[in-house]
Amino acid sequence: MCIQAIESNIVEFLNIEELKASVDMDLRSILPEYVEILMRNIVSKPITVDAEHFVILDGHEVYEALQLLTARKLPVVKVDIRNVSVRSLQHGLKPITINDILSAGLKGPKLPFNSFKVIVKGRVPSINISLNELGVWGGREEDKARVYNVYGSTLELLYKGWPTPLVKLNSLSSSGRNVWAKLEGYNPFSNSVKDRIGWSMIMDSLSKGRLKQILYEATSTNTGIALTSIANTLGVKTKLFIPQTVQKASDIYLKVLGAEVVRMPVGLTVESIETVDEESRKSDATHLNQFENDANLKVHLKYTAKEIDEQLKIIGVKPTCIIGGLGTSGHMSAISIYFKNKYNNIKIIGVQPAPNEVIPGIRRIETGMKWYYWVDFDEVIDIKRSEAIESAIEIARKEGLLIGLSAGAVVGAFKKLSYNEGTYILIFPDTGYKYVEQFSEYLNQYDHSS
Ligand code: PLP
Repeated sequence: MCIQAIESNIVEFLNIEELKASVDMDLRSILPEYVEILMRNIVSKPITVDAEHFVILDGHEVYEALQLLTARKLPVVKVDIRNVSVRSLQHGLKPITINDILSAGLKGPKLPFNSFKVIVKGRVPSINISLNELGVWGGREEDKARVYNVYGSTLELLYKGWPTPLVKLNSLSSSGRNVWAKLEGYNPFSNSVKDRIGWSMIMDSLSKGRLKQILYEATSTNTGIALTSIANTLGVKTKLFIPQTVQKASDIYLKVLGAEVVRMPVGLTVESIETVDEESRKSDATHLNQFENDANLKVHLKYTAKEIDEQLKIIGVKPTCIIGGLGTSGHMSAISIYFKNKYNNIKIIGVQPAPNEVIPGIRRIETGMKWYYWVDFDEVIDIKRSEAIESAIEIARKEGLLIGLSAGAVVGAFKKLSYNEGTYILIFPDTGYKYVEQFSEYLNQYDHSS
């Protein structure tokens, strides 16, 4: 379909799968374009591709931003490569030619971003196309049947099962205040938010040709289960390095899934990263490193944050405040980028364990977090382990939902907030089933009501 013709160049729509990226862009270079498009809900520049193979010549950041926004169609201008000239920006290196760009798009490896500029004869038109026209909003009809793996693998349970539910919590709501929980425990493999990053990091590594036969990762359980489950569908092995502070049951889940488990003499998962890095190099294993890998933040921008936005749109409410725990800081940083740029006056609250307290899955900011420092948080609230457990027990007894300890910490943080009116979204990363040991210890010590 042609929508606009100015001089020689015409804008058409292509399915996103038809385009071939020729440059490797890091997330920080994509974010300004992503934010611009998200804020305006409009794309104002088409992507220039070669007319024969649809390799991207210009508009790489628009392509990457629209990938993150889950566009199904993209506005493109197809050009004959005889009508383009290439200015190589790789000073001191062999100049990049049009054939290098085509080869990068068709076979890889991709070229560095900003290593060349393509100049097209005739003017590339400016456009004004809404994200609705590109299929960004609204789900797909065929996903409603909840029948999976007709042609693929059990992995479809994950990405075709989204969105995870958003449920109102009556026990925390009142007139003028609505509190909703995003139940990440509905993810199929680790029953946690970590399925999302396990899938995203493995697929990213696979697409870059970097996925070896074994994965090494430092994890506190959930990422380990997610990675092992997903790796199993691809015939890849895992070796996981778990802090000694984590519940013993984790070893059993992981061993049943076929992972090799190493208990580390550390308190926090991040303290094992250097060892995992060294060991993975010695053994020719892939270390995806959830703490540094931008595929973590990306999957939450692309799906988690957008899901919440679309779910709220369906019930016709605008969020006032979103509260969630900080581990790698992946999910809450993405939620901050998305909602702070799309809406005014929305509060983003992080939750961390109080000093010297252990709450599985979350940790204190000063232990080092990559994306937390890229974005804007209004407040970070300290929660004690006992407060997290008590809040989880309260939700179980009032709402019938057996939530995990970090979800309990989020409820605890919500209760400490001073502002009251509005729509609150609490992110519950997982369920309570993995924390039998912690619940049991608490009940034996303090709770004699049951
Ligand atoms: N809660 C649980 C149970 C987790 O496993 C994690 C991450 O490990 C988090 C919260 C924090 O999520 P993120 O790593 O996205 O900050």
